[in-house]
Amino acid sequence: MTERVGFIGLGIMGLPMAGNILKAGFPVTVWNRTASRAEPLAQAGAQVAASPREVAAQSDIIITMVTASEDVRQVTLGEDGVIHGAQRGAVVVDMSTISPQVTREIAEALQAQGIAMLDAPVSGGDVGARNATLSIMVGGDAAVVERVRPVFEAMGKKITHIGPNGAGQTCKLVNQILVVGNNMAMAEALTFATRAGVDVGRVLEAVSGGAAGSWQLSNLGPRILKRDFAPGFSIRNQQKDLRLAMEAADQMRLPLLGTSMIHSLFRVLEADGRADEGTQALVKALEKLTGVTVEG
Ligand code: NAP
Repeated sequence: MTERVGFIGLGIMGLPMAGNILKAGFPVTVWNRTASRAEPLAQAGAQVAASPREVAAQSDIIITMVTASEDVRQVTLGEDGVIHGAQRGAVVVDMSTISPQVTREIAEALQAQGIAMLDAPVSGGDVGARNATLSIMVGGDAAVVERVRPVFEAMGKKITHIGPNGAGQTCKLVNQILVVGNNMAMAEALTFATRAGVDVGRVLEAVSGGAAGSWQLSNLGPRILKRDFAPGFSIRNQQKDLRLAMEAADQMRLPLLGTSMIHSLFRVLEADGRADEGTQALVKALEKLTGVTVEG
């Protein structure tokens, strides 16, 4: 039986992800708070519902890809939320990056109504969402993960079951600590190269494939050289994730030295009104401190 898939949240990530599920042949019903964002999917053959509740009533697997913990709570458990429309035996798959603790709370509330939940945050950025090459980190019951796997495979390449509910989100926070560390290294290295007077484009080409290579460097480095600061991933969302990582570290009494410093540098950019720029704008914080402008 082909699973009917519902998709809630058609932002930078959700729109191409839902499009890839549709392309893979699943019947798809979508909803987005700002209704106009659903138009490209309606044209591609998706049904458009009037609320998350209506999406759930027409779907076996309901995916949410919204912003933060409270947004996921609202579309799943709130008035007109998924819980009011889903049938027993349905699965909710939250692919947003949110608090592991809130994930567990939502999973419990859904479970009480006979609805399973997986937390399945992703990595790979806007590029991975468009090319269906996301890494998907999954928390929840193993049998449910297997049931949803064909849908995951329509969106991603590396699908890893980490552990019970919340474990996917914890893995994503680990991912974000790595991401900002790589971003910081890139910003510092490109500033250094510029001040040293070498051809930054050639430097980027030379170092990207070696031991210093990273997704950040290969995908965001060229955008910095073109002074393209449009968001693949916004500073606003990055800060949300760093707060989650620092909260979790605080509960464990664990210092997060590099991460907390980078969070502060992003604060400088937020104060400059740049929260909706892409995370590659981290370099601008260093440019402000050094007077260097990185260009390729
Ligand atoms: P985005 O472009 O800002 O999209 C956010 C989406 O969530 C929009 O469709 C928005 O609806 C919807 N939304 C937010 N709050 C809502 C609420 N209370 N009720 C209903 N809908 C709500 O963000 P994004 O970049 O796609 O990111 C989505 C999630 O994926 C975030 O948790 C982010 O941290 C994570 N993520 C992003 C990336 C990336 O590279 N962009 C990578 C991995 C993970 P409207 O259209 O009405 O605003």
